[in-house]
Amino acid sequence: MLELNAKAKLPTIFGDFEIYTFKFPNEEEHAVVVKGEIQGKQDIPVRIHSECLTGDVLGSKRCDCRDQLITSLKFLGKQEAGMLIYLRQEGRGIGLLNKIKAYSLQDQGYDTVEANLMLGLPIDKRDYSFAVEVLKYFGITSIRLMTNNPAKMDFLTDNDINVSERIPIKSEPTPYDEFYLSTKKIRMGHQL
Ligand SMILES: [Zn+2]
Repeated sequence: MLELNAKAKLPTIFGDFEIYTFKFPNEEEHAVVVKGEIQGKQDIPVRIHSECLTGDVLGSKRCDCRDQLITSLKFLGKQEAGMLIYLRQEGRGIGLLNKIKAYSLQDQGYDTVEANLMLGLPIDKRDYSFAVEVLKYFGITSIRLMTNNPAKMDFLTDNDINVSERIPIKSEPTPYDEFYLSTKKIRMGHQL
């Protein structure tokens, strides 16, 4: 069972939230952003977002992470209750340095899957077990998941979290991320 570390109010440009941090056996400092009263509330919208420094913070056009993050926060800000679980697992879990190495290979024409394989890294090393623990902490067993990624839904279902609805996140491809998005769709099964 997770143990609460601290929580505080977090007013944002998207609405008024609360931010929670938990003590977790692993070293990552994940963040949970909560809208409204969620304790024991079922079928609330939830976004599980993996950190992307280049996209989320720097506005990189190489991926659609920032678009997805902002779309999610805008949506959650308008809801009575909802949650964004922000997982500090950069570059689908391989870390920032490896992600930039993979970008460098992509600059030479390889796709995101080939680049990871050439570096001897997994294609997707993300782990959503913290998200499952967070949902259990709040007594939530059924959610409406904001995602385009079926693997994420499968992980939750396999861990006793029912996904009653998938809320797709629409974003417009740019000339820079078109190839990346089509790779995610064709090679990684994302529903875009
Ligand atoms: Zn990204």
